[in-house]
Amino acid sequence: MSKHLIVIGGGAAGFFCAVNAARLNPLLKVTILEKSSKLLSKVKVSGGGRCNVTHHCFDIVEMSKHYPRGQHFVRKAFHQFFTTDTIRWFEERGVKVKSEKDGRMFPVTDSSDTIINCLLREADKYNVEIKLNTEVKNVNYTNEKFHLEIADSRQITGDYLCIAAGGYPKSSMFEWIRKLGHTIEEPVPSLFTFNLPGHSITKLMGVSVERTIVKIIGSKLSEEGPLLITHWGFSGPVVLRLSAWGARELATRNWQFTVLINWLGEYSEERVREKFQRFRFDLATQKIINRNPFGLPQRLWEFLLDETGVNAETRWADLPSKEQNRLVKNLCTYECAVKGKTTFKEEFVTAGGINLKETDPNTMMSKKVPNLFFAGEVMDVDGITGGFNFQHAWTSGFIAGKNISSL
Ligand SMILES: Cc1cc2nc3c(=O)[nH]c(=O)nc-3n(C[C@H](O)[C@H](O)[C@H](O)COP(=O)(O)OP(=O)(O)OC[C@H]3O[C@@H](n4cnc5c(N)ncnc54)[C@H](O)[C@@H]3O)c2cc1C
Repeated sequence: MSKHLIVIGGGAAGFFCAVNAARLNPLLKVTILEKSSKLLSKVKVSGGGRCNVTHHCFDIVEMSKHYPRGQHFVRKAFHQFFTTDTIRWFEERGVKVKSEKDGRMFPVTDSSDTIINCLLREADKYNVEIKLNTEVKNVNYTNEKFHLEIADSRQITGDYLCIAAGGYPKSSMFEWIRKLGHTIEEPVPSLFTFNLPGHSITKLMGVSVERTIVKIIGSKLSEEGPLLITHWGFSGPVVLRLSAWGARELATRNWQFTVLINWLGEYSEERVREKFQRFRFDLATQKIINRNPFGLPQRLWEFLLDETGVNAETRWADLPSKEQNRLVKNLCTYECAVKGKTTFKEEFVTAGGINLKETDPNTMMSKKVPNLFFAGEVMDVDGITGGFNFQHAWTSGFIAGKNISSL
C-alpha cells in the first residue's frame, strides 16, 4: 500500500516539499491542504508582484548572516539545498532568474506568475492532490498515523505530515501545533517601518538619504544604509533591517523608542567639526542655505538649518559657534521619537514559531513526533528583506520533501 504524505499549507514551503517528495518517490501519495481558496498567495504579491525568489549570494556563512533568527539552523540546512540549487531547480524547469544590483533575484519575466505556474505544473506532473478551503484545526498522532480534523468536520489520515502553515501573528493560533508537543517562540512582527505621528520631518516625505547610520537609544541596535522619509515616518533598508534585528526588543517596548540618526553616515561628529572649520574659510562669503557642502538632499538641509535655528541667510564665515555645534549635533545625532510601526506591505514576515531545537535541520523532522516535518515560516526562522525568506522556504521544503520521499 502506498504511503500518504499530507502537507498543511499551499505556500512556497508547502509546495516545494510536496512537489519534490512526489517527484522523488512516485509511489508516495501527496496531498496539499490549504485553508484559503488560493494557492501561493504570498508568492503572487511578493517583490511587488515580481517574486524575489532568492538572493545573489553563494557563500553559506555570508548568506546565513541575513537571518536575525535561525542563523545556525539555516547554515546547516543550506549545505543540502542552497541558492545555487534554487536557481538550478527553477532553470531546469524553464524559469530563468536574474539578479539586480542589490542582490535580489527575480524571474527574468519580472512576474511572480512564472514561479506560480512552474510550481503548479510540477504539482500536476507528479499528481499532487490539492484541497482548497481545507483548514486543519487539530492533529492527533496515534498508531503511527496522523489524524487531521478539518474545520468542516472532515477527517483526513496520513502517514507523514509536513506542517508548512506559514507565520501566525498570534500565539494562540499555534495551539494545534503546541498540542503535538512543540514549543512555540512568541510571534512578533518583523520588517516594519517606523511611525512618527505629527513629526515635522514627515513633511519631507519622498526624501531619501543614501548613507545614514541609525541607532536605537538604550540598545545595541545600529544599522547603516539608505533611509527614506515617508508621510508617516521612516522607511528604507536601514529601518527594515533595524526592525528585523530588533523585532523582539522593539516589541517589548511596544514600538516606542528613540532613534539617533547620523545623516552623514560616512562622517563621524569629529570629522564633521573639522569640515566645518574648512567651510568657514573655503565658503566664507556664501550663504549657508545655498551651499550644502555634504550633498544632502536640499530639502533636508533646509529642514535641519531650520530645526537648529540657523538663519538661512547667514554666511559660512559668520556662523556663530553655538549654532555650529547644534547643527553638527543635528547632522550626526538627530534624535527622533518613534511611536508605533507600520507593516511593510512589500515584504512582511513574522518572527517566532516552532522552536528550532525541536527540529533537525538536516531532515526538517520533528524531534518530538516521528514522521512529522516542518517547512518555511512556521519555524522560528526569518530573514531580512532581499529574498532570504523565500530561500528558507525552498531549502526547508526541499529537505523535508527529500527525506520523506526516502522513508
Ligand atoms: C506582501 C509580502 C511580500 C513578500 N515578499 C517577499 C520577497 O519578495 N522575498 C522573500 O524572500 N520573501 C518575501 N515575503 C516573505 C515570504 O512570502 C514568506 O516568508 C514565505 O511566503 C513563507 O512561505 P511559507 O510557505 O512558509 O508560508 P506562507 O506563504 O504563509 O504559506 C502558508 C500557507 O498555509 C496556509 N495555512 C495556514 N494555516 C493552515 C491550516 N491550519 N490549514 C490549512 N492551511 C493553512 C495559509 O493559508 C498559507 O497559504 C513576502 C511576504 C509578504 C507578506
